[in-house]
Amino acid sequence: MTIPTEIEALVEVTLTLIGAYLAATWICLIVWTVRDARARTTDVVVQILSGLLVLLFNLPGLILYIILRPAETVEESSLRRQRLAALADARAFHCGSCQAPVDSSYAFCPRCRSVLLNLCPQCQRPVRREWNGCPACGAAVHVTGSG
Ligand SMILES: [Zn+2]
Ligand SMILES: [Zn+2]
Repeated sequence: MTIPTEIEALVEVTLTLIGAYLAATWICLIVWTVRDARARTTDVVVQILSGLLVLLFNLPGLILYIILRPAETVEESSLRRQRLAALADARAFHCGSCQAPVDSSYAFCPRCRSVLLNLCPQCQRPVRREWNGCPACGAAVHVTGSG
């Protein structure tokens, strides 16, 4: 028995379309993977390997990539680092004269030797120079000029 030429042609066209569709999907997956890898790492080798993974293994490769990829994007991790740095910055004390980071217990700046702590005139506790009042007794602390 012979297959009519029309049906043969139809099957051929259908298979070509399906093949083109699958190829397009595959290429899209590779492009997406490489873009995603670029967002998550600056390591070019990892980016190429991620693309190769999907190129060679297609969908299972993509699933493998999603499992293995870095949890956060480069943008996210730099944002997190910025927030942590800002938080640490807010906690750290700085010398009022030279902006050097100083410990809250320092009485003098180790870099420029300017006075960091004064004594409260009422309770004699150490009070930081930039404070206007004593945190222990509430007394007003008069800010004295430098020198
Ligand atoms: Zn200083
Ligand atoms: Zn006081």
